[in-house]
Amino acid sequence: SEHTVRFDLVVIGSGPGGEACAKRAAQNGLSVAIVERRELGGTCLNRGCIPTKLFLGATECIHELAAQSKFKLLSGSIQPNLPALQKRKEQVLNGSRQGLRKSFEQLGIALFEGSAHIHDASHIDVQLSDGPQAIEFGNLVLATGSAPSAFPGLEPDGERILDSDGILDLTEIPESLILVGGGVIGLELGRFFSRLGTKITVVEALDRLAPFEDPDVSKTIAQLCKREKWKLLLGKRVQSLRSTAEHAELTLESGEELTADRVLVATGRGPVFDGLGLEESACTQDSRGFIQVDEYLKAAAGIYAIGDLNGQALLAHAASHQGQYVADIIAGKTSAPYSSGPMPWCIYGAPESIRVGKMAEDMRAEGLSPVVSQYALAANPIAQAHALAQGFIKILWNDGKICGVTAVGHGVSHLITQATLMVSESWTLADAHRIIWAHPTLDEALLHAILADQTAV
Ligand code: FAD
Repeated sequence: SEHTVRFDLVVIGSGPGGEACAKRAAQNGLSVAIVERRELGGTCLNRGCIPTKLFLGATECIHELAAQSKFKLLSGSIQPNLPALQKRKEQVLNGSRQGLRKSFEQLGIALFEGSAHIHDASHIDVQLSDGPQAIEFGNLVLATGSAPSAFPGLEPDGERILDSDGILDLTEIPESLILVGGGVIGLELGRFFSRLGTKITVVEALDRLAPFEDPDVSKTIAQLCKREKWKLLLGKRVQSLRSTAEHAELTLESGEELTADRVLVATGRGPVFDGLGLEESACTQDSRGFIQVDEYLKAAAGIYAIGDLNGQALLAHAASHQGQYVADIIAGKTSAPYSSGPMPWCIYGAPESIRVGKMAEDMRAEGLSPVVSQYALAANPIAQAHALAQGFIKILWNDGKICGVTAVGHGVSHLITQATLMVSESWTLADAHRIIWAHPTLDEALLHAILADQTAV
């Protein structure tokens, strides 16, 4: 129709994937539109990475006080103010949303605020507040992300049974909280509430916390949780959940009954494409329900799927890296298949943990014999200074080259980029000696782990 507007590239979703894709495409000289139906910035800014780290950062002093007071260096108590923290969260997020809006303007990216629906192989419709807008695209990038998913019967009710979206808006500190799921989201949010004084219970179906990490990392995390009086119910499955006026009730498959003020269901996330009209396209889903893509992240002719939606790695930096790649493919700046390189993984809170590259069990599965060198953080002066010295760094070697790094302890997330570089460049011992490592730093613990005796495991 005469009202149809046309862009070389239309991106649906303004999370880290869509944002990075739209910006890179504009820099590549393409005409670009981005469509968003909720707040700008997606899950990461509004309901994910950013609010969780804000909460953890704002309460870190509580954890540090507890650590130093063991030595009677500090005493007293800190009174958290959750309503004030919620207000501060809104201010920070608002500032970032405004910054994002401005950067789209500056790059000449057209922003359409409304729900997008695929119309045919070259058009979408956007439901704007003043009516529908037809947009013709040269290429379409789907970056519609993911949302919390729950097993049937374990769905949140928005009252006492919450998912990560709901719990981020609480203004009252729960007296007790049951985490269903001991993975990254449960651990980070559990840590935050634990600092506020909430009694934490974790129910995890697998036999350890952080089940995707190195087993020794899981062990260290569990030790520190127990020290803070968390109750860990590992290898236990939840059968049912319900809210009453007084509390949330939970029944385990073993028959045990638990009650708490609130329950956080953090059992996983699934792709978002409701209302998107995928049936109007040739896109297909994989066995887990995520959108299937080829080695160029293409989901159908002229349509790409990036970020959480394709399920490759549910991480903000994975989404933005994929977004930039697709913008380069569309602009003809590259024709190579997509490769992320080694993916950095972090769990925040206390302790933090990181992982990049291979773990010992990956190597065994590939028929390789893993060789490990490791270092305990207890000997690191910075860890000692913070009185938070529990943890370790493990380096995994293949043929004299670093192929994996995993660590757990206070502040280790700050080591992730150096670790990623070492794995990505397959560092040898000689590489570690090429640079000066500043002293005293936590980074030196990486060096000591590299230099430590290598043993077969
Ligand atoms: P999203 O960020 O989910 O954005 C998708 C956007 O698309 C949304 O804004 C949505 O409204 C919009 N949309 C959907 N459908 C339509 C439609 N039809 N029309 C218009 N718009 C539409 N990752 C990290 O790397 N580090 C962390 O520390 C971290 N912490 C996290 C903590 C929590 C509690 C959670 C839940 C997640 C965390 N993540 C973290 C994961 C990270 O948030 C996601 O990997 C990331 O946001 C994915 O980006 P995306 O661009 O693929 O999609």
